[in-house]
Amino acid sequence: MPDDPFGQRRKHEDKHFYQRDQELIEKLRAKAEAERRERERKHRKESHWMKCPKCGSDLKETAMGPVKVDKCKECAGVYFDAGELDILLAAEKRGSLLHRLFKRSDK
Ligand SMILES: [Zn+2]
Repeated sequence: MPDDPFGQRRKHEDKHFYQRDQELIEKLRAKAEAERRERERKHRKESHWMKCPKCGSDLKETAMGPVKVDKCKECAGVYFDAGELDILLAAEKRGSLLHRLFKRSDK
């Protein structure tokens, strides 16, 4: 059988296109996966936003001294946003019950 330069060339091109397609598929797959994770994150945030982590009821922003805490309408649980507890502790006098309660658990 004589050499088939065109056949060899086709094989080479097929391999090239196959690799290119695989890379494209991998890129599209990674993009779809990133979009799916973003959708999940948004959905999770929407379904949990201002909901009590213990009973699932609505939280209501309530003033507590210098900060606004999130208080559950149902079970009366109180939740702090990041940094709010530090503000409250800084504002509290040393030796107050709240200060002792939270400062002790820091150590
Ligand atoms: Zn609750």
